[in-house]
Amino acid sequence: MNAVPEHVDVLIIGAGLSGIGAAHHLQTAFPGKSYLILEARHTLGGTWDLFRYPGVRSDSDMQTLGYRFRPWTQAKAIADGPSILTYLRETAAEAGIDRRIRYGHSVDQVSWSSEQQRWTVEAGREGSAGTLRFTCDFLISCTGYYRYDEGHNPGFEGIERFAGPIVHPQHWPEELDYQGKRVVVVGSGATAVTLVPAMAAEAAHVTMLQRSPTYIISRPTEDAIANWLRKVLGNRAAYPITRWKNVLLSTLVYQLSQRRPRVIKKLIRSGLERQLPAGYDIDTHFTPRYKPWDQRLCLVPDGDLFTAIRDGRASIVTDHIDHFTDNGIQLRSGEHLDADIVVLATGLTLRLLGDMKVIVDDQPVDLSATLAYKGMMLSGVPNVAFTIGYTNASWTLKADLVSEYVCRVLAYMDAHGYTQAVPINDDPSIGTRPLLDFAAGYVQRSVDMLPKSGTRAPWRLGMSYAHDLVTLRHRRIDDGVLRFTRPPRSGGPAQRDGSTGQDDVVGVEVSELPLGQQNPGPAVSA
Ligand SMILES: Cc1cc2nc3c(=O)[nH]c(=O)nc-3n(C[C@H](O)[C@H](O)[C@H](O)COP(=O)(O)OP(=O)(O)OC[C@H]3O[C@@H](n4cnc5c(N)ncnc54)[C@H](O)[C@@H]3O)c2cc1C
Repeated sequence: MNAVPEHVDVLIIGAGLSGIGAAHHLQTAFPGKSYLILEARHTLGGTWDLFRYPGVRSDSDMQTLGYRFRPWTQAKAIADGPSILTYLRETAAEAGIDRRIRYGHSVDQVSWSSEQQRWTVEAGREGSAGTLRFTCDFLISCTGYYRYDEGHNPGFEGIERFAGPIVHPQHWPEELDYQGKRVVVVGSGATAVTLVPAMAAEAAHVTMLQRSPTYIISRPTEDAIANWLRKVLGNRAAYPITRWKNVLLSTLVYQLSQRRPRVIKKLIRSGLERQLPAGYDIDTHFTPRYKPWDQRLCLVPDGDLFTAIRDGRASIVTDHIDHFTDNGIQLRSGEHLDADIVVLATGLTLRLLGDMKVIVDDQPVDLSATLAYKGMMLSGVPNVAFTIGYTNASWTLKADLVSEYVCRVLAYMDAHGYTQAVPINDDPSIGTRPLLDFAAGYVQRSVDMLPKSGTRAPWRLGMSYAHDLVTLRHRRIDDGVLRFTRPPRSGGPAQRDGSTGQDDVVGVEVSELPLGQQNPGPAVSA
């Protein structure tokens, strides 16, 4: 362990989409602050580098999956994985963020000291027995929401008997040859519906084996309005307009799905009837038992999945796996699916804060016993924020807002000489509920381990961009729940605001500060 830890003002953990975005917001708002990004892997991009299966792509539009501060300039609104990775790499390189990343540093433990008013961060380094220590004033966790080392494996009976390759999309073997092979893709989520048409282009046949159906809608790969606006107005001016168009459209669909599910169900069904062969059994294969948007709606660009089904290159089987055999899968219905290759698109294993052990003043923090403040800070845990995106809209919409909010908190602390900001729940009338109110399997399997959401603001994790935009960008930082502390006088305890006779500073909004102390905000506004 290094005897003298390296100190930075802000430490970001994770160099995926969220970490790079957080760094960009931070250095734009505070060119003078020092920061580092610790990244466990040897490259940036997170999800968009890890997943390399055939056809990997976004399932939301790039005008909202792209950053607010950096327009997405390509014609395709539904982009392939490599293009998204290039966008992230270019964002990091252009802003010099890549020089601040320490690769191969996997953070195992973070400990807050109230006495020192700082975090000590311990990171293991691959191939090295020792641990490196860093200290920082503020910590931003951008570690994503799932385990990288393994996806969810439901543990199918007899799986070891299967003679062919069994592949998980999270660890796609580059050399896998599926040309002319019979492939079974187990799953019905975004990954399965991406893989099926992509593999069907070369395989003998691809069967998507699902236990239950998912709502699937087709959407053009290119957004004609966005491309027209880009031509007329240029990238920079067109981007926020398209972004807002897409935000409003997806909000409308989401709200309608919640309030008038029958209308949306009917619309989805008529889309399916148009694109699937006449007489196709839509009830069995495409009609879920839940309401649209109780789980994420799956999107297929230009109806590629339906084309593969129409062409006879792909099919869907809705059944339960009884057991694996040496040459395929025996279903409960009695049918046997012959297969040369099986792909387990059975989902992710959820995890928050990158499995880090969190300690506050020598006490380990039980994350499941904390409440999430504004969906990004933890009750009783000072100077830390984490990024979780929306489940009903693009991740980046929320990631950008989290970063902006953190910058506002930092500006507020700087302006008032505070060294600690901690959300405290002392309102007994606040009830708790699961953090993610989402029926998807990967959420339901692990929701008990996550922090809780409160029944009221500011403890509720909202899923509305418009609401968050107002709350996070414009509402006052000092809301009485986020409590601030000044550094301890030599030898004395830290001074909690309100007990120091310095209430005069409480309530000053960042917008009221002298210009130099305000967060100037990104160049492009949406
Ligand atoms: C296949 C797939 C497709 C998706 N498509 C979309 C989409 O179209 N639209 C959408 O909105 N969302 C989509 N998502 C969700 C997607 O994960 C987010 O959009 C976004 O990429 C998340 O970025 P992130 O940086 O928060 O997390 P990640 O991309 O997961 O990056 C986290 C980074 O943190 C690092 N890390 C984790 N723990 C530690 C630790 N302890 N120490 C150091 N480093 C650590 C990881 O190595 C990784 O580099 C998709 C997800 C998947 C899996």
